[in-house]
Amino acid sequence: MAGARLLSGADANKLVDTLSKTYKDAKYYLNFKTPIDLVAAAILSAQTRDEVTNAVTPKLFEKYKTARDYANADPEVLYGYISRVSFGGNKAKSIINTMKIIQEKHDGKVPNKMEQLLELPGIGRKTANTILINAYGIVEGIPVDTWVIKLAPRLGLTRNKDPEKIEEDLMKTLDKKYWHNVTYVFKRHGKTLCDKVPICSKCPVSKLCPKNGVTKML
Ligand code: SF4
Repeated sequence: MAGARLLSGADANKLVDTLSKTYKDAKYYLNFKTPIDLVAAAILSAQTRDEVTNAVTPKLFEKYKTARDYANADPEVLYGYISRVSFGGNKAKSIINTMKIIQEKHDGKVPNKMEQLLELPGIGRKTANTILINAYGIVEGIPVDTWVIKLAPRLGLTRNKDPEKIEEDLMKTLDKKYWHNVTYVFKRHGKTLCDKVPICSKCPVSKLCPKNGVTKML
């Protein structure tokens, strides 16, 4: 990876612009109505397919609406609503612990500051960015999920593998207007054309991509 070609800033922005126009309707993939819903959904989504998370959350959100509802929940009862997600038992406890802190320290409101979000158990930088962007419209950084980790090096936007370093590289290179949605655009591009066997012949950014013509990605 050390020798992989990096795009210039102009080309990197052009590439992301082209993908953003190609996948115009790409957006955050978990369903939620309130910041509290989003915290619960984000914790549930770790190592779980979006469809599974989205399948369990309607009934969960109907039963638990506020931080206090979750903080007072019986873990066994809560688990009954989320048993289909992976590590449901641990996630039930994690949601309850997180909501207790939100209730006690933040008066029941999900904080809208990065430092305060990072103090919550089960919330790392990816999820904190996700909450800030999608619940509050605050863009401080870029959520680096598994698709960004896969695609950013492939597209010549970073040589790093560590999520925080990838985020730093993307923030240095990309215009801020792309930060709020680039994660979801990459996910759509990965799922549509650029997964393990990339379909470069149909790719709208093949002229810019350093890996154009590759037959297999690890
Ligand atoms: S040219 Fe190929 S490797 Fe590059 S982004 Fe497109 S599909 Fe992926």
